[in-house]
Amino acid sequence: MRNGRTIRIKDPQLQKIRNSLRDVIIAAVNARLREYRSLQQRRTSLKQFLRQSICCCMTCGRRDRDMVYNKPQNSWYCTECYEGQHEHARKMARIEQKDLSYEDKRMADYYDTFL
Ligand SMILES: [Zn+2]
Repeated sequence: MRNGRTIRIKDPQLQKIRNSLRDVIIAAVNARLREYRSLQQRRTSLKQFLRQSICCCMTCGRRDRDMVYNKPQNSWYCTECYEGQHEHARKMARIEQKDLSYEDKRMADYYDTFL
């Protein structure tokens, strides 16, 4: 038993209409996909804006605490997280830079913003 169903259009005029209709559908879908991508970018931007706002801590996401602004990071941290980052930064500052890997140096640069 064959499951395939073939639709053949032999009239060149009808083929042209069929192809034009397909082009219209494809263009409409592509336009919707562009809208969708634009909304996704806007969503990402809004989420990033919210993450960096005073509304919630950049690290833990809590929103019911006092906040500290970290200017180099352009972000807000709750006092507890900021203090934790600060303490870790103080420990990192004691480590010789030459002993650090590239990734560790990047992390050290990050933690330096909490000193
Ligand atoms: Zn926090």
